[in-house]
Amino acid sequence: KLGNETIKQELGRASWKLLHTMLARFPEKPTMDEREALKSYLYLFGRLYPCGECATHFRLLLQKYPPQTSSRDAASQWGCVVHNVVNERLRKPIFDCGTIADKYHCGCAEEDEKKRK
Ligand code: FAD
Repeated sequence: KLGNETIKQELGRASWKLLHTMLARFPEKPTMDEREALKSYLYLFGRLYPCGECATHFRLLLQKYPPQTSSRDAASQWGCVVHNVVNERLRKPIFDCGTIADKYHCGCAEEDEKKRK
């Protein structure tokens, strides 16, 4: 367990950012292999996330809300929902998942450009 709240929060913000950006970049029509890769990533994330209490909660979330990997939309919405469950537990504001497609860009100009059209 990381002793320091500030570090835990920084780690959380960075991790959510990576996770949501990755889901926003997930293929719209993933292959079985890509779906399997995302699922594995999420379960391994739950095993290896370096804040013990967070990882334990996240593993319970994975049981209750199995990762949705059928499309970019399904995956992004799933990520938004589980983050909101964590927000609720930590008494943070609930994010409007209807707006998530506008929020996460990867900085890979070409792809972001397509998205804005
Ligand atoms: P964060 O929750 O880090 O969110 C960052 C930004 O993402 C927000 O400012 C907002 O713009 C956007 N956002 C908010 N909600 C959503 C959403 N639903 N979908 C998309 N974008 C959104 N901390 C603990 O103290 N205990 C825990 O058990 C714990 N478990 C965690 C489990 C995981 C898997 C992760 C990644 C983090 C966990 N954290 C936990 C950290 C915690 O969730 C926050 O990251 C941290 O408290 C910092 O919060 P924040 O207010 O800066 O916003």
